[in-house]
Amino acid sequence: MAKDIDWGSLGFGYIKTDKRYVSLYKDGKWDEGTLTDDDTVTLSECACVFQYAQTIFEGLKAYTTEDGRIVTFRPDLNADRMIESAKRTEMPPFPKDRFLDAVKQTVAGNRDWVPPFGSGATLYIRPFMFGYNPVIGVKPAEEYEFRMFTTPVGPYFKGGMKPITVRISDFDRAAPRGTGHIKAGLNYAMSLHAIVDAHEQGFAENIYLDPGTRTKIEETGGANIIFIDADGNMVTPKSDSILPSITRRSLMVVAEKYLGIKVTQREITLKEVAEGNFKECGLCGTAAVISPVGCINDHGKEIRFASGMDEMGPTLQKLYDTLTGIQMGRIEAPEGWIYEI
Ligand SMILES: *Cc1c(COP(=O)(O)O)cnc(C)c1O
Repeated sequence: MAKDIDWGSLGFGYIKTDKRYVSLYKDGKWDEGTLTDDDTVTLSECACVFQYAQTIFEGLKAYTTEDGRIVTFRPDLNADRMIESAKRTEMPPFPKDRFLDAVKQTVAGNRDWVPPFGSGATLYIRPFMFGYNPVIGVKPAEEYEFRMFTTPVGPYFKGGMKPITVRISDFDRAAPRGTGHIKAGLNYAMSLHAIVDAHEQGFAENIYLDPGTRTKIEETGGANIIFIDADGNMVTPKSDSILPSITRRSLMVVAEKYLGIKVTQREITLKEVAEGNFKECGLCGTAAVISPVGCINDHGKEIRFASGMDEMGPTLQKLYDTLTGIQMGRIEAPEGWIYEI
């Protein structure tokens, strides 16, 4: 029986659900893993994760399709990305087949928490991993916990998809040759001040520039950026310090294969954005799929997009409708994109 929840009024907050998956790494190997009711973790005060932030995570969602199946979207790419994040932080990668099995078990164990089709809500899945044995000299932990919990989240856009205003940040997110390309808690700890400050100044998000030259667009704290140029082509920044968003990579395929839109991934300067070379701009990530940007504020100078402040631009809207159509089962998906629970 589905839980008695007003799905439409849910926000993006944590709600404890029935089951979570846990696997421990000890003596050089992962144990077999299990679902548990226990939502708490008790650790040594000297656990590596507390002292040196050795933790990585992922984010994906489960939802009900139009024809009533419970599915997730491209979880194999989350598994791959988490393996890359683990390698860069000296953690033992959690095997891909086991990651996919954990998604299946965790969602199946919380079946009643998957919001119904049409509610706009989804069951957010949070896989994460941390080093937990006591470590005081700086080195990686020897023991790790992999955990995956779920929490129902509401529709991202409650009052319709209104374009947002974002600012060019004076803070940097990720150093060249640093850790910007992995999904690690450390990339978020340093973004907290920037986001609180942006909100205080009335901006929805920060756009970070490349720290090397501070002339090129990278991404926001938790979403990649896509632009539509004057000819209706999709252009997205290329940089080693951008987190490879699964939504952005999927939109690139949708643009080219479904909509016949030319896609280019290249360095994009703030200067060319300011010169008005692009008519639409959007942020993309699992949570919202695409959030339209109506205006970028660069230290008081407003860069306004032709799509305006009232609605998403027509090309981004087409991309959004097609990708969400694929996710919901209305449009045929490329092989392997939809993973049934
Ligand atoms: C998670 C994340 C994204 C979005 O990635 P998706 O796979 O599309 O959800 C973008 N940027 C950063 C920094 C992220 O952490």
